[in-house]
Amino acid sequence: MSHRYIGRFAPSPTGLLHAGSLVAALASWLDARAHDGTWLVRIEDLDGPRNVAGAAEAIVAQLERLGLHPDGDTAYQSERTALYAAALQRLVELGRAYPCACSRRDLAVAASAPGAESAGSERVYPGTCRNGLGGKAARSMRQRVESVPGSGDAVVTWHDRRLGAQREDVARAVGDFVLQRADGVFAYQLAVVVDDAAQGVTDVVRGEDLAGSTARQIVLQRALGLPTPRYLHTPLVLASDGSKLSKQTGAQPLDLGDPLAALRAAGGVLGIDGEGTQVAAWLDSALRTWRERSIGGQSVPRA
Ligand SMILES: [Zn+2]
Repeated sequence: MSHRYIGRFAPSPTGLLHAGSLVAALASWLDARAHDGTWLVRIEDLDGPRNVAGAAEAIVAQLERLGLHPDGDTAYQSERTALYAAALQRLVELGRAYPCACSRRDLAVAASAPGAESAGSERVYPGTCRNGLGGKAARSMRQRVESVPGSGDAVVTWHDRRLGAQREDVARAVGDFVLQRADGVFAYQLAVVVDDAAQGVTDVVRGEDLAGSTARQIVLQRALGLPTPRYLHTPLVLASDGSKLSKQTGAQPLDLGDPLAALRAAGGVLGIDGEGTQVAAWLDSALRTWRERSIGGQSVPRA
C-alpha cells in the first residue's frame, strides 16, 4: 500500500476567503497533515471576467495568516492552458469530444420544447450537434456522455468519505457537457481533472457545493485514462436565511484581525472543538482530533 498523499485547496480568485471557503481550506489542510501528506494550493483563475484583481495573492496571504502553509509554489490555472488544450485534443482524437454550434438561444429554445429534460437549474444538452454541425460554425466543445467503459450507461458511482455512496446518471442529469466555452475558456471540469492528475492529487477535499461535479470529473478521468482520487465533501456554511454562504451571496471576507476566531468557527462546522489560545496550538489540537477520526475512518461527522 502506498502512503503517498497529495491534497489541494483550489479557490477561485473571485474574492477573499470567507467563512464558507475556510471550512474547505481547513479540512483539506487537516486531512493532508493527518496523512503526513503534501498540501498544494491551486488558484482556479480560468474565468477571467469573474476574477478580482489581487484576490489570488490576498487568498494566499490569508492562508498564511491562518497558519495554513502550503507545500511548494502556488499553481495558477491561467498558466496551464496548454495542458487543457492537449487533453481536449486527446478527447477529440478518442471520439469523446465534439464541436457544438448551439447558441445560448438555441439551447433555451430546445429546453422549452415538449419532452425536453431538465435537472434542477441545469439544462440537459439535447445532443443537437452530436452528429455534425450541419454547416454551422463551431462555438464550444462538448464531452460525449455515453457508454463510459466499465461504468455501464454512463451511471457513475463513487464513494464520498462523508456522504457515503453516491450515484449519478450523467447522461440524464447533464448530458454532453461543455469542455471549452464559446469564448475559448476551458471548462472547470476539464481543468480540474487535468490538474489533479498532473499534480498527483490523491485526495480531493472540498465543499459540498462541488459534490455535483464529481461524476462529470470521473467521466473525464476515465475517458483520459487518469486515476480517480478519493473524495471528501465538507459541510457548507449557511447564511442566516438558510441559503449557501458564498462570495456570490455576499459573504463577508474573513476578519483576519482574529485568525483564531475564524479557525474556531470553521472547526465548529467540521465538528472540531480545538484547544489553544494561539493559532499554532489550536491547529495542533485540531490536527490530533482529525488524525484520531481518520484512523477510525471518519473525518467529518455526517450531520
Ligand atoms: Zn450544439
